[in-house]
Amino acid sequence: MDYIMEPTRRLPVLVEADVVVAGGGPAGFAAAVAAARRGAKTVLIEGQGFLGGMMTGGLVLTLGGYNCWIAPFERVVTGIGGEMVQRAEELGGAEDNEGFVLNSEPEVLKIVCDDMVLEAGVQLLLHSKATAPYVDGSRVRGLIVENKSGRSIVLGKVVVDATGDADIAARAGAPFEKVEGLQPMTTGFILGNVKGSSAEEVARPMPPGYTEAGVPKKRLHRARRVDVVPDADAMALAREAGEVPVYGGPWFGGLYADRIWVNAVRIFADSTDAESLTHAEVQGRRDAWALYHYLRDNVESLKESTFLMTGSIIGLRESRRITGDYRLTGDDVRREARFPDGVGLGCWWTDVHPADGRSGLHLDYIPWPYQIPYRTMLPQGVEGLLVAGRSVSADREANGSLRVAGTCIMLGEAAGTAAARAAAKDITPRQVDASQLQGALREQNVKLEPEFSSRRR
Ligand SMILES: Cc1cc2nc3c(=O)[nH]c(=O)nc-3n(C[C@H](O)[C@H](O)[C@H](O)COP(=O)(O)OP(=O)(O)OC[C@H]3O[C@@H](n4cnc5c(N)ncnc54)[C@H](O)[C@@H]3O)c2cc1C
Repeated sequence: MDYIMEPTRRLPVLVEADVVVAGGGPAGFAAAVAAARRGAKTVLIEGQGFLGGMMTGGLVLTLGGYNCWIAPFERVVTGIGGEMVQRAEELGGAEDNEGFVLNSEPEVLKIVCDDMVLEAGVQLLLHSKATAPYVDGSRVRGLIVENKSGRSIVLGKVVVDATGDADIAARAGAPFEKVEGLQPMTTGFILGNVKGSSAEEVARPMPPGYTEAGVPKKRLHRARRVDVVPDADAMALAREAGEVPVYGGPWFGGLYADRIWVNAVRIFADSTDAESLTHAEVQGRRDAWALYHYLRDNVESLKESTFLMTGSIIGLRESRRITGDYRLTGDDVRREARFPDGVGLGCWWTDVHPADGRSGLHLDYIPWPYQIPYRTMLPQGVEGLLVAGRSVSADREANGSLRVAGTCIMLGEAAGTAAARAAAKDITPRQVDASQLQGALREQNVKLEPEFSSRRR
């Protein structure tokens, strides 16, 4: 590769903030709201023209991590995550229940996220990329931002990296892991004119199955759309014959009886590599189109369906995970771990999609609620920076469980609250007192301790 030297240039300081958040997905939106509500002057920088990340642009409309899958289906995500669902429900754009996912409408979530961020007083910059951290020694002191207005810098006492890919942490020199054989990406698509159940039947919560002793059965789910059921064996044969591209599930979701989200495409690529990501977007649309035709021709309720749209961002599951002061493990998930600096609860199954080109379904471990410690958000060797969302410090298995929308919102709320405390006290995030942080989170109605566990039933 050839190189040229970029001429040195003066960057305008756009704003001097207390807290700067990169990425407005579930984690970043919640981090910005939490920080601003705690009185911090907060800037949120989002690359797309809307907030919500995967849960809006990626069309992931089945919000997970809210309810434990084991009876009595304890609600573990409250705080800002609970408020978002309640506000969306009031606008007809979500449905709260005790099921293993909460269906939502991405267009309504975009509006709710806008409202919550702006009401909190956050300065919002859409269509703006945080391209690099501004680093002074080992301390991050702001972000370089590029958008239609040019290149500028946003200074901040604390920066929160909620880019999903830990872009900022990696560029600040923080250690991270990124495995060979990343979980596949998925181009989500929406089908219209579905002749399925009545709206009432579609809205019925569908918790997973249990044995009499309350032990989760390894029963397989197709989200909640019991009215859209492809013949799994026939579909597997079609795959073997090369008639359909590699697929996962397929899983279906959606609030409305006549419209469904299809989560099925599987593309093997790396979102931290621009060429690979470009290939993924193009191939993902092709595979979505091919899968649509297979489903339309072979599933009774989809015979007259129409292909309405694909997500504006391909669905991203896995890339970099930072190496933090604590690395959450699959063992922690299984032992229902508790930590002195626990900032919230995870409960989703250890959902690691196979990277070997296998089609169909997978199901791993279904946990009781476990705590996630604050230290998973502190990248080793870097100060002034918190990482929130799916790229916190965790092994693959733990990441498979904590990477869902509800849990990422909870992590974002904890990061934003800690960032505001650090900024107010002029200390680094690493110096934030965990018990005081927990006190603040409790005031915000964040659930830190589960009511139920395998030992207390
Ligand atoms: C197909 C699929 C199905 C899934 N199914 C479920 C499910 O059923 N239930 C569930 O709860 N979860 C599910 N997930 C997981 C979940 O949606 C994501 O893991 C979750 O959204 C991660 O949240 P996040 O905030 O960490 O990152 P993201 O949602 O990826 O948000 C990151 C945000 O940062 C922005 N950004 C990135 N880089 C920059 C930058 N440099 N500057 C500015 N902005 C930037 C992006 O545009 C985006 O808005 C699924 C994921 C996929 C892909």
